[in-house]
Amino acid sequence: MSGKNYYDILNVPRNADEKELKRAYRSLTKKYHPDINKEENAEEKFKEINEAYSVLSDSQKRSQYDQLGHDSYTNASKGSYQGGGHGSGGFNADFGGFGDIFDSFFGGGRGSQGPQSGSDLLMRIQITLQDAVFGVDRDIDVMHNEPCSACDGTGSATKKTNVCPRCGGSGQERRANNTPFGQFVSMATCSQCGGSGRIPEERCKTCNGSGHSRVKRTITVNIPAGVESGMRLRMEGYGEAGDAGAPNGDLFIEMHIAPNSVFTRIGDNLETKADITPAQAVVGSSITIKTIDGRKIDLKVPAGVQYNMALKISGEGVRRRGRPGDLLVRMKIVVPKHPGSEEKELYEKILELEGNKESGHGSKGFFKDLKDKIK
Ligand SMILES: [Zn+2]
Ligand SMILES: [Zn+2]
Repeated sequence: MSGKNYYDILNVPRNADEKELKRAYRSLTKKYHPDINKEENAEEKFKEINEAYSVLSDSQKRSQYDQLGHDSYTNASKGSYQGGGHGSGGFNADFGGFGDIFDSFFGGGRGSQGPQSGSDLLMRIQITLQDAVFGVDRDIDVMHNEPCSACDGTGSATKKTNVCPRCGGSGQERRANNTPFGQFVSMATCSQCGGSGRIPEERCKTCNGSGHSRVKRTITVNIPAGVESGMRLRMEGYGEAGDAGAPNGDLFIEMHIAPNSVFTRIGDNLETKADITPAQAVVGSSITIKTIDGRKIDLKVPAGVQYNMALKISGEGVRRRGRPGDLLVRMKIVVPKHPGSEEKELYEKILELEGNKESGHGSKGFFKDLKDKIK
């Protein structure tokens, strides 16, 4: 540590409000982010900024900090990280690899000292292609740990905590393991205080001293138009609760777009098919197309349209802000399997006409050839 206090680190006055803190934090992390700032001490500085902000941005933690002063406050929880008891992070094993992303994203700057912030959570949800095209608000239920309301997350009925007598506030204890190779002494998370270094003065009955309560919450997620499978939305503060006073983790919501039987997405465009008859293809026609949200739109099919040709309906694709994508309609010319007698007669007449046509290269034409072969 630099010996500076958290207010100095963030370069804000003692009475700075939430907005001032946030502004200072944002500009400093931008300046000292290890990916941007290549100075030797940038990473250390970045960690300090994060640590300072994690305490001062939480009103309860901040008042504790103001009360205790910098040294006693930071000493109380020193060492809980270095021993490795906490640092592994509480990522659910199901989330495979998620920890890596987190680490590179935050440069490992998550409070190397002080109370640990809550773990991040990852949730996967499936949305329809229509929702991805227009955007949607989705209500989702999340189970997570919130600070216990009865004790304000302290775990103590009196909201006061004492230094843990077992570890003396370090959060770590020596543990002797007897193995066939001899006795090994290792440092482990303190079994009495769970690594926080402090124990409740009087155990809170609501949360049994943990300071957390497991609650189900419904949150509304605003899914913007244009999301793609694998994209993650971040809900700040909706992850697990941190140690008493430390900020919550974040909730990441990963989108998976269900395939649609009628529409295919290609970037910001949608594609669909339309069946037309040979006559519609030859002389042109007007057909009705259903959009992805069920509206009906008239589409003019020009004379001479070819099989698989795509006609464009502007603006009926993904409604991303700015220029929306288009809807491409592929022409599928469907030959009638059981034409009526009059219809058949007319086709025969066309066939005759085609057969009599002299092609530029002196051939008898495709249909004439075919007729000759069948004979
Ligand atoms: Zn302890
Ligand atoms: Zn409680």
